Amino acid sequence: MDGANADEDLDLVEVLISALEHFSYCPRQYGLIHLEQTFDQNIYTIRGQLAHERVDAGEVELTEGIRVERAIPLWSDRLGLRGKADVVEFRPDGPYPIEYKVGPPRGKHADVQLCAQALCLEEMLGVSVARGAIFHVATRRRREVEFSELLRDRTTGLVEATRQMLVTQVLPPPVNDARCGHCSLVESCLPDVVSDRLRLEQVDGQAFELAAEASATQ
Ligand code: SF4
Repeated sequence: MDGANADEDLDLVEVLISALEHFSYCPRQYGLIHLEQTFDQNIYTIRGQLAHERVDAGEVELTEGIRVERAIPLWSDRLGLRGKADVVEFRPDGPYPIEYKVGPPRGKHADVQLCAQALCLEEMLGVSVARGAIFHVATRRRREVEFSELLRDRTTGLVEATRQMLVTQVLPPPVNDARCGHCSLVESCLPDVVSDRLRLEQVDGQAFELAAEASATQ
């Protein structure tokens, strides 16, 4: 693929907002799901689907004078993003997106997904979106997220990295660290086995280079 064609391809490829959390957690996890269509159902993914079906009802309601809309389609032509917001509260100081999460909190990886929703709302509505929240279904608690410049930069960087992987279709190597213990794809990914194989290939390659150098000097 030459440089010009690569740029054209990058322009065409849309990134799903919901995929950014996977990429942030582990690029290989994203690749397994979106390049290789691997998806392991577990109790959290099933509960997640049920929770999202409930908020996918497309309802509009008024809560304490604030309009609350559910399952709003989102997009950004500027960033090549599309997806959906679980809930948006239309507060007097601007829209406030809320993302529902069912599984145990996994650091702040969902923050990029929420921030991408905010970037879409800003572009679609021509307003600024300063904050939103992650709603943890198990504890019924909200964690507020501020859309700082740092988080915005991280989010746009991840959108580009995600698009790059979609274009190149290259599955990255396993991270093979503490994240794997909490990953629902560990049985499909086999991080230990793949890491060992990559190490062996590297050792083999080095041995081959040493042998080639030795025979060249004889
Ligand atoms: S098992 Fe580890 S390397 Fe594999 S997808 Fe999950 S977190 Fe990433």
